[in-house]
Amino acid sequence: MANYNPTQEMQDYHVFGEFGGVNPSITDSATFTFMTTEKMAQCFGEEVEGCFLYSRHMNPSNRFLAEQLMRMEGTEDAQVMGSGMGAITSCLMQLAKSGDEIVSSRTIYGGSYAFMKNFLPKFGVKTHFVNITSLEDVKAHINKNTKVIYCEAISNPLLEIADIRELRKIADAHNITLVVDNTFSPLCVSPKQLGAHVVVYSMTKFINGTNDCVAGAVCGDHDFVMGMRSVVDGAAMLLGPTLDPLRAASILKNTRTLHLRMKKHSENAMYVAENLEKLGMKVFYPGLPSHPQHELIKSMINPEFGYSGIITIDCKEKDKAEKFMMAMQEAKVGYFAVSLGFYKTLFSSPGSSTSSEIPQEEQDSMGMTPGLVRFSMGIDNDVKVSFDRIVECLKKVGVIK
Ligand SMILES: *Cc1c(COP(=O)(O)O)cnc(C)c1O
Repeated sequence: MANYNPTQEMQDYHVFGEFGGVNPSITDSATFTFMTTEKMAQCFGEEVEGCFLYSRHMNPSNRFLAEQLMRMEGTEDAQVMGSGMGAITSCLMQLAKSGDEIVSSRTIYGGSYAFMKNFLPKFGVKTHFVNITSLEDVKAHINKNTKVIYCEAISNPLLEIADIRELRKIADAHNITLVVDNTFSPLCVSPKQLGAHVVVYSMTKFINGTNDCVAGAVCGDHDFVMGMRSVVDGAAMLLGPTLDPLRAASILKNTRTLHLRMKKHSENAMYVAENLEKLGMKVFYPGLPSHPQHELIKSMINPEFGYSGIITIDCKEKDKAEKFMMAMQEAKVGYFAVSLGFYKTLFSSPGSSTSSEIPQEEQDSMGMTPGLVRFSMGIDNDVKVSFDRIVECLKKVGVIK
């Protein structure tokens, strides 16, 4: 880990355009011509470097973005997808077949939860949802059919931390694949360096950062990712969650400022979290020493990027949370919207939005109370102004005196 420097790797990666352009040319072609019949037949049989068949399989623009992600994670290969869910669902369907089981964290993105809970059983794949902060709970749900341990490095929305190093040891003891969704913490956490076999992303969030499209990625060993692209039995090829190459090109350009953005998101979040806590608010933020797993996450992050930009606070009552969010929108703190990783602060209440797929009694048992407000802190230049506005709004709706 100490000798892996994701930003240097990303900065050193450069591809030129057809005419020497400093950005690679965009290949907006669905299909590719071959000069010999033998070559086409060869490409259907195996992957040939620099040889493209059809854009659902791979396209040069998608390849450039995939290579950038490989460099960020330090994985051998990557495949970019049309959405985060496209990446997660095809990855899990590649790893699990009928009769297999998954052990998943229960505090994950609502769509991932719903997919494992409601969709995969149609294909005979069962998921046990566990408290990922309890390694005992994880171990207790593993059996001979377990094929995958699934978690988020920093989870949605309570910001629990998965101990990737320890989970890898459990996975190794049972020949299980450890899949980590690192959507909340690109650059901050390098899951592969800590032991994840496969790293999945919704690039819709921080990685792209401009909220102009949905996109996803799967990063892993060459054999696994190539298997996902297989024309015979690969989920990325056969389910068709392909990313449009025009989008891939624009996301690649946005990755060049990811390091600056992550630092600023983290810095702003730390400021707001610390100061809201001082005012007596209940604040969930991994960078705070009061976070139950602060020491663990501290041992996992790449320190210069901080603890990422997501904060969850508890306004105690649903009604107050709602009024608070409307007041913040009015006061130009940011937007009342789901999603995260935008230049502007975004806020929503998890129980009635991004985690609404999770049944109420399960929300209760995970500690997801109705007054929660999740913030994705923006890259505001002067966070003190934003903080003052947040405090004004909290006072206005009576959350604090
Ligand atoms: C948004 C999100 C997803 C889903 O990604 P899409 O790009 O919306 O399909 C998956 N995991 C996490 C943690 C997310 O925040």
